[in-house]
Amino acid sequence: MPSASRPFDRLSPEELTTLNRAHRADRFHDHCGVFGVHGHEDASHLTYLGLYALQHRGQESCGIVSSNGKEHIAHRAMGLVADTFGTEILERLKGRHAVGHVRYSTAGGSMLRNAQPICANTDGGPVSIAHNGNLVNAGVIRRELEGRGAIFGSSSDSEVLLHLLARSRERHMEDRFIDAISRVKGAFSIAMLTDDALIAARDPHGFRPLSIGRKDGAYIISSETCALDLIGATHERDVDPGEVIVIRRGRLRSIRPLSREADEHFCIMEQIYFARPDSHLVGHNVYAYRKELGRVLAREHEVAADMVVPVLDSGNAAALGYAEEAGIPYDTALIRNHYVSRSFIEPTQKIRDFKVRVKHNAIRGFLEGKRMILVDDSIIRGTTLVKIVGMLRAAGAREIHVRISSPPTIGPCHYGIDTPNKEELIAYTHTIEEIRDKIGADSLGYLSVEGLRNTAAKELKRGICDGCFSNDYPVPIDPLQSMPQLTLFRAVKEVETE
Ligand code: AMP
Repeated sequence: MPSASRPFDRLSPEELTTLNRAHRADRFHDHCGVFGVHGHEDASHLTYLGLYALQHRGQESCGIVSSNGKEHIAHRAMGLVADTFGTEILERLKGRHAVGHVRYSTAGGSMLRNAQPICANTDGGPVSIAHNGNLVNAGVIRRELEGRGAIFGSSSDSEVLLHLLARSRERHMEDRFIDAISRVKGAFSIAMLTDDALIAARDPHGFRPLSIGRKDGAYIISSETCALDLIGATHERDVDPGEVIVIRRGRLRSIRPLSREADEHFCIMEQIYFARPDSHLVGHNVYAYRKELGRVLAREHEVAADMVVPVLDSGNAAALGYAEEAGIPYDTALIRNHYVSRSFIEPTQKIRDFKVRVKHNAIRGFLEGKRMILVDDSIIRGTTLVKIVGMLRAAGAREIHVRISSPPTIGPCHYGIDTPNKEELIAYTHTIEEIRDKIGADSLGYLSVEGLRNTAAKELKRGICDGCFSNDYPVPIDPLQSMPQLTLFRAVKEVETE
């Protein structure tokens, strides 16, 4: 990889490709978003806009399926929503009902046949499913079904839902759906289209968000409320953990078939990092929550400094909260290139290092002799902070105190967030003092697990999943599920050229 001073016209073709990709993909890179419309003449256009607002939840593939009351019309593609859907395609997606999906693969490879919504024709009519979350027993169910002759068309865990639904002996589609979701374990927020109904559900633990909205008499289902805002829909309420919503002929029916003995475990990483700050998740504004975490962090790890600086954009709200609580001015000493996507998902460390440099730059001259508190939401591999701390020092900063608005990330997520394997997590392999040394900071302070839990209890007033920080995983993991997906596809070579 080139050094910071090497001009771009001397980059190798491989480096140029990397840079181009980075510039084209100026969006977050994480798990999935779902969206659904029931009973609106512009159903597919509204779904397009909804997915546009949910793009930060997945940039790998996207899809919309509409229903004209009899058949489903689908369009799925690799890539971003804005690059995939034009007027011509949306005109073809006719009907008053639609579901859509944006995907970043957390289970199953990155390829078109894993794109969602997944469609099937059953003896009860067409069904299309959009799923957010990870099913921890999908591998076991898949083996069992394959043993009985089922043929799977993708390596996505979501496909087992369709198979279970198609095999159910129940007559009505909603009962078949309930049959299917009663067999799977783990995290799911689902929007499913039948010929005439939109069905939505959240798993009994409520890991992933899902909201209900209304517009012009139509019902809307969305992973986040920011998408409701964009289309001018009102936010009615959230789907409850374990609740199934059936919307048919303009009427919403709520069923609670899944046992509520399970505690609620809302994914706290949604609030800390993933969701858009303008969304309201489980009744709480994400931006306000992040600021509150910053305030708690300031109380836990006080230090004298001239300014509080966020790592853009992930540290913005927490840095503001920290600055307010500590009474130290908030300042942006870094400038972010907005055309570069999240850095740590890149396949090799070299590319990740380079992208951090392309993404952030320190304002020289302004930092000379200053003591700063640098705030980010999390440290995963440490790539970002090693580079940024080095950059700030090179720009003249005298002291750099790093503060993180979540506890050390010591484990992966099994419920739908693409955190890397344990061995790649710097807080799993290093002590806090070793991390401080590695990133070159004068001090390093993480929010405590207790601070995180107390804030959740006070602000969210519900149970959370903090497994990646505490190793407390609420749903046991099926060992098959944590194997690379390729082992499930022994006979098929996973190469596609879309
Ligand atoms: P790293 O450079 O590997 O330490 O990654 C840290 C950066 O990644 C932080 O700025 C976070 O905002 C961001 N981040 C944290 N968790 C995730 C995730 N699961 N997916 C993508 N980015 C993340």
